[in-house]
Amino acid sequence: MDCLSCGLPAGYNRVLVERPSGAELGGLCVECEERRFGDCLKQGFWTETDGCALCARDAYVVMPEWHPVTEHSPDGVVVRNEYEVTEGTVGLCDEHLDSLTDPDRHDGTLSRAPTPST
Ligand SMILES: [Zn+2]
Ligand SMILES: [Zn+2]
Repeated sequence: MDCLSCGLPAGYNRVLVERPSGAELGGLCVECEERRFGDCLKQGFWTETDGCALCARDAYVVMPEWHPVTEHSPDGVVVRNEYEVTEGTVGLCDEHLDSLTDPDRHDGTLSRAPTPST
């Protein structure tokens, strides 16, 4: 899953989930989270609100953390991506989701060049 903000692979950081459908809109990579929110999401500063983390509107999407789960099965090791949406999961309204994904607001240093796969 690619980062909704920069278009690069999001890694296992956060996933943006539309409410109430539960549709996965995309991911949010560590870099974009730090650029937009700093340490606040990790610290849980915003988990007290059930609306948008940045304003008073209702949350349109929620941003649960992604937890890859490794399962051992007879066929080998399977990695599943799991996330859990709880009452404390940080949300964003549609406007702030837009600002997150608006390409015009990208940093000048960011490009859509593919990251080297390691
Ligand atoms: Zn990103
Ligand atoms: Zn908002």
